[in-house]
Amino acid sequence: MGKLFDETILEFTRKGVVDRVKFLRGLRKKVMPSQLKRIHQNDKKVMAELFLPRWVSWDLLYDWASDFKEESAGRDCALCENKSEIGIDFSEKFICDNCFVKLKNLR
Ligand SMILES: [Zn+2]
Repeated sequence: MGKLFDETILEFTRKGVVDRVKFLRGLRKKVMPSQLKRIHQNDKKVMAELFLPRWVSWDLLYDWASDFKEESAGRDCALCENKSEIGIDFSEKFICDNCFVKLKNLR
């Protein structure tokens, strides 16, 4: 977990605010993968969709989400270096769908 998230959990534990600790620990089940992605992209509008309690700040949510970045499946695109699940193998290199479409349009 991120530093802020860790400290927040610790603080709530110390204060005995068990329900908040439980909420934060169970956050993964409440956030859909697409929403997690938007948190990574710093899209703060996602906050309104998550119906989070007021005490959950954006910084806390962002810090929490940073821990799940590694989870994203897919392979590194040889052209744009983004991870993608959809794409093709081209000359033994993986090219994501986005880049493949751009290449096709160049022809
Ligand atoms: Zn690409």
